Amino acid sequence: MPNLRSKFKTDRFDQLPLSRTCNKCGKDKMRDEMIIQHRHDDSGNYYYFRPRCKDCNNSAERGHRREYKTKYLQNWRKQNAEVNESYWRNDETREAAKVRARSFSQDHKDAIAIQRRLYNRGEQVTIAAARELLALYGRCYPTRYGLTLKGLKRCEQIRSRLRSRSEKYRMLSSFEIRVMVYEESEEEVGLVIPPEQQPIPYPKAAENLRNFHQRKNAEKPPQEVSL
Ligand SMILES: [Zn+2]
Repeated sequence: MPNLRSKFKTDRFDQLPLSRTCNKCGKDKMRDEMIIQHRHDDSGNYYYFRPRCKDCNNSAERGHRREYKTKYLQNWRKQNAEVNESYWRNDETREAAKVRARSFSQDHKDAIAIQRRLYNRGEQVTIAAARELLALYGRCYPTRYGLTLKGLKRCEQIRSRLRSRSEKYRMLSSFEIRVMVYEESEEEVGLVIPPEQQPIPYPKAAENLRNFHQRKNAEKPPQEVSL
């Protein structure tokens, strides 16, 4: 496997290759259509391609101008110190949020849990979409706890099939394989435990998190706790 990075990295701008494939849209782009970064620090002085074209970068960053946002937020927080403080440390606000969260139905909580699990794997879904997934695949989606023995075996089958072709294909993560099996369950019965019979996944997770925060707060010096 050639080291792509070194091919696109050089100490002189005019030695950079004239074109590069964008990893995002897959098109071959000219040098001036790609994002090029100049690094000049202890690690050396060199130019290199970001594996993204300017078009793709702009469309991904639209609405997320980070520098602008940071400065704007910093100024806003300085000028509105009192309001800002209330968002962070106001006990009433925090208590109200807790009460509101307690009033959520179990279905809503399950949907939030599904949304969070997907978010942790880089998939963003709306709460409405998470509710659809909940209705379709049950509260364990996309963990292994919602799969039957047959479903778990199917995961292993997919994994070993991919392993024998691993020269050609990227190995999928267990998460991606499980999502495939959940999707397969729409056509084949017996892979997923029926939603109403699924166990509660990670039943101790909330308790563990609470304990973790209690332990963390106990370690803090007393002045900070009194705030
Ligand atoms: Zn692109």
